[in-house]
Amino acid sequence: MRFDTIFSMSACCIDGTFVSADSGETFSVINPYDGSLLGNVPNAGAAETARAIEVAQRAFPIWKAKTARRKAEVLLQWYKLIMAHCDELARIVTTEQGKPLAEAKGEIINGASFIRWFAEETRRLYGDIVPGPCPDKRMLVTREPVGVVGVITPWNFPMSMIARKVSAALAAGCPVVIKPAPQTPFSALAMAELAIEAGLPKGTFNVVTGDAEAIGLELTTNPIVRKISFTGSTRVGKQLLSQAASTVKSVSMELGGNAPFIVFDDADIDKAAAGALVCKFRNSGQTCICANRFYIQDAVYDIFVEKLAHLASSLKLGNGLDPNVTMGPLIDQYAMDKMHAFTEDAKAKNGRIVCGGEAHTSCSLFYAPTVIADATDDMRFASEEIFGPIAPIFRFHDEAEVIARANNTAYGLAAYVYTKDMGRTWRASERLEYGLVGINDSRMTTCEAPFGGVKESGFGREGSRHGLDEYTTLKYTCMGGIEM
Ligand code: ADP
Repeated sequence: MRFDTIFSMSACCIDGTFVSADSGETFSVINPYDGSLLGNVPNAGAAETARAIEVAQRAFPIWKAKTARRKAEVLLQWYKLIMAHCDELARIVTTEQGKPLAEAKGEIINGASFIRWFAEETRRLYGDIVPGPCPDKRMLVTREPVGVVGVITPWNFPMSMIARKVSAALAAGCPVVIKPAPQTPFSALAMAELAIEAGLPKGTFNVVTGDAEAIGLELTTNPIVRKISFTGSTRVGKQLLSQAASTVKSVSMELGGNAPFIVFDDADIDKAAAGALVCKFRNSGQTCICANRFYIQDAVYDIFVEKLAHLASSLKLGNGLDPNVTMGPLIDQYAMDKMHAFTEDAKAKNGRIVCGGEAHTSCSLFYAPTVIADATDDMRFASEEIFGPIAPIFRFHDEAEVIARANNTAYGLAAYVYTKDMGRTWRASERLEYGLVGINDSRMTTCEAPFGGVKESGFGREGSRHGLDEYTTLKYTCMGGIEM
């Protein structure tokens, strides 16, 4: 297989081989920009997933036994191949997901950086020798791979979500069975091809496409799987959590968000508006750390609304493959319907549409970048995740009030604060109940830092020196009878 044939291959990857579903059935993958058919992938289910889990289990002792240096070499090779194929991978992401090519390239580079990071981290998977209470004992703590990992990923970052999870799992010594989102399976299959080329042993990297419920049920209940790593909606996350309980699996969950973006009246408003544009409209608003609620202090409210609306109106919607395009389509009609519903709800409650507020004519899945002023806490987007290009702007008066309103949600993934006041930055950062806080910064995702949420946004961290912990268990070995 090569990249020019990826859309016609119609196979998933089990045991290093590209195979069909047992039934021979496939399902279609559509380009969200124009609705054209990109290709088909196998409609696999429980049986194929069980097989992928078995081959992963067979590969486990082989991969685990590789030296840290060897694991690092293979991961680095995978990283290099991804970077060498960056343009082709970006085109696959744009074609199946819709985001502009520049954003897709950014995703590939960011995803690859996690692979390089964990290639480096695997060589530092140190343990401890602990000073013990008895003179005739020695106490060792080592970190061991947890076992076969089930990885379930969403469509909004089809490549980097896989890279972040899988590189950490492989670096820890764990083989993986990946279920990519049905909208974006080709990115996962391209990554599998490069992983095999990089030298990963057969069975360590498996991709199963098809029936989400059947694959998910097998991954979460098969006793061989020892860990589930999921990114997606809170609704599905809760279901997977309860399924995984039956075999007491370790679980990492990166779920929904409802990010507040707070601008105090002492902030640099130009920088805040520029940060808001990126934070809200990147990937057409379809990221879990996108600002969902803008809270702007009285004195700068009108000027911020004006600046953000001006910037949002200048976005160029179109085919992501066109280098001049800065915003792509939404993923499907359901997302479009949701945008209409949010806007109608806000209008009915006296929200003021400053720009957008309707479908954009150029393609059936384009929703115009939208700024809604005079947003109030009874509007739906005050409590629901928008996941699209609507920026609701709420007004606030003082610090204590805005922190309380920002925390008044079941979610806790990302929060943003713009201010120049040192005391306020610390108070806000400490009082916001969120896993990530950006102070005068709206682009904080990087492999060096821990990514993850609190409350119903989930638990577990991706990236950073903590990222490997998700895929390892601690073993304590007590050596007694040592005569002195
Ligand atoms: P979104 O609404 O963004 O698509 P989902 O949580 O529905 O978010 O999807 C995230 C991932 O979870 C996708 O790969 C999807 O196919 C998968 N998924 C959805 N439902 C289930 C399920 N019942 N079991 C396992 N995986 C599921």
